[in-house]
Amino acid sequence: MSTDQAHRSRWDALRVRYPDDLVTTFRDAGLWGTRTLGEELHAAALRFADRDAVVAAEGRLTYAELDARTDRIAAGLAGTGLEPGDPVIVQATNRLETVIAWYAMLKAGLVPVATLAAHRGHEVGQISRTVGARAHLVEAGLSHGRSLGGIDLVAFAVEQARDHPTLGRILVLGADGPLPDDAVDLLELGTEIDPADARARVEAIQSGLNPDDVAVFQLSGGTTGVPKLIPRAHAEYWYNARAYAGTLGWTEHDRVGHLIPVIHNAGVVCGVHAPHTVGACLVLTGHDLDTALPLLAAERTTSVLFGHVHYRAPDHPAYPELARSLRIVVLSGAKVSEDLFATVTGHGAWVGQLFGMAEGLFLVTPLGTSPELRRTTVGVPISTHDEVVLLEPGTEEPVPDGGVGELCARGPYTLRGYYAAEERNVPGAEGGAFTSTGFYRTGDLAAVRLLDGYRAISIEGRIKDLINRGGEKINAEEVELLLLRHPRIVEAALVAMPDPRLGERGCAFVVTDGTPITLDDVRAHLRALEVATFKWPERVEVVAEMVRTRIGKLDKKAMAADITETLRAEGALT
Ligand code: AMP
Repeated sequence: MSTDQAHRSRWDALRVRYPDDLVTTFRDAGLWGTRTLGEELHAAALRFADRDAVVAAEGRLTYAELDARTDRIAAGLAGTGLEPGDPVIVQATNRLETVIAWYAMLKAGLVPVATLAAHRGHEVGQISRTVGARAHLVEAGLSHGRSLGGIDLVAFAVEQARDHPTLGRILVLGADGPLPDDAVDLLELGTEIDPADARARVEAIQSGLNPDDVAVFQLSGGTTGVPKLIPRAHAEYWYNARAYAGTLGWTEHDRVGHLIPVIHNAGVVCGVHAPHTVGACLVLTGHDLDTALPLLAAERTTSVLFGHVHYRAPDHPAYPELARSLRIVVLSGAKVSEDLFATVTGHGAWVGQLFGMAEGLFLVTPLGTSPELRRTTVGVPISTHDEVVLLEPGTEEPVPDGGVGELCARGPYTLRGYYAAEERNVPGAEGGAFTSTGFYRTGDLAAVRLLDGYRAISIEGRIKDLINRGGEKINAEEVELLLLRHPRIVEAALVAMPDPRLGERGCAFVVTDGTPITLDDVRAHLRALEVATFKWPERVEVVAEMVRTRIGKLDKKAMAADITETLRAEGALT
């Protein structure tokens, strides 16, 4: 496989590559490897053949089994007319087969596009057209007791393929009945192919790929009305995972629990790739604590990542059993209270924090640091080559230590540009996503705290206009533009309202043409526009006019304060 810097691919016209000198630096420093993601799994399988690679409610696979199974499916995929480089929209939940499908697609040279199972026509239509998706991988029906919001994703995929310029194939996971034309049962592919033959076919495909080419597309939480696509390349993406595993000191003896959506960036990096960089085992569960915690406990999970929706896990009756094997608990997504920190510590685990994003940068509290650093900050970058600066919002002026500024990052796994988003990518452009020197503006507010000899980062809020609903990001502008398509809505503002379980939920402030409007009306409107349910406002406040700042901008801070006060008065925030 070539690491020739002059290598060019179908994505280059619309993506921003790392500058050639940095490619050399990162490779010479041993950060980036020369393998593709698919071949990284194969290399791990050669080293750790008999160890568990993944365990879930549906079953378990050793590295050798996962490798062989994904080789054959990949070889089978190659026979379906899909070609290396073809993008595949992925909508699947946390189950064993999703991990199989992930590596099988990568081995076939396909490029997974990590959409959510919860996405609907509004999102999938736009994303699949932007990347020119050739296939749509969906999880079948509501089998296995999983709720996909009451939708039949296979029927959804058939509908999406209609009038679509490129979408031609539907790949199905967990098929339990006859499939429509053009749909294939992914797990049945390649079963007739001899394993050695399958390996040879995968090697032939992989030898044509470049480790710095796009391997995966992730979705951005977004700062503007249209969801942005983040191209992740083989070598940098694997390195992101390797650096995370290294920071937490994982070895092949670790068993890593993962409950949050696996096709998210955090799922792919922390749940799937990171354990596999060191020969550890992924213990994959759904998000429901009643089923997740017993499985994690039975599998003697040693390390787990809890998102904000799982911050109550340590109070669950099944937790003490899990705590017997847990060495490391990583918390991510919201501030960590003293109580939570003390409870998890009291059960005997090391507690730390992760701050990460699909665009790249990961901050993690290092091993060996004080409880104060680990409770009050999200730690430090996971790579020696990460560069982090805090800038006065909207400027390139650094903020002095102790001050609050916009967290900006550059480094060996942080993007240099969104895909097909020329305007956002112009370095130093006003309102753009990058500084003139290529630092990515995260839209998060942070401060540096000098603790234990580290420049640790604490998160102090955000500038970007989004709602973090239990880890799912809702882009306010995107929803506002959709609300304005309602004939009776004249003005709309989506603001975050606090929620004890999810952290935040969306509340729409609207001005109408004088006719009343209800939450049900708004929801029916968004349903008709095929917008993912998690983005729907969960409360509507009809106002005579919007609150504005002195310079006439919408005053969302005032609206958020207003709705918080209302909720408090209603007793919803106790
Ligand atoms: P995503 O790309 O979906 O993983 O979202 C990344 C964004 O989630 C960040 O830019 C932050 O706004 C937020 N986020 C991630 N980790 C944390 C954390 N530990 N605390 C607070 N916010 C976080």
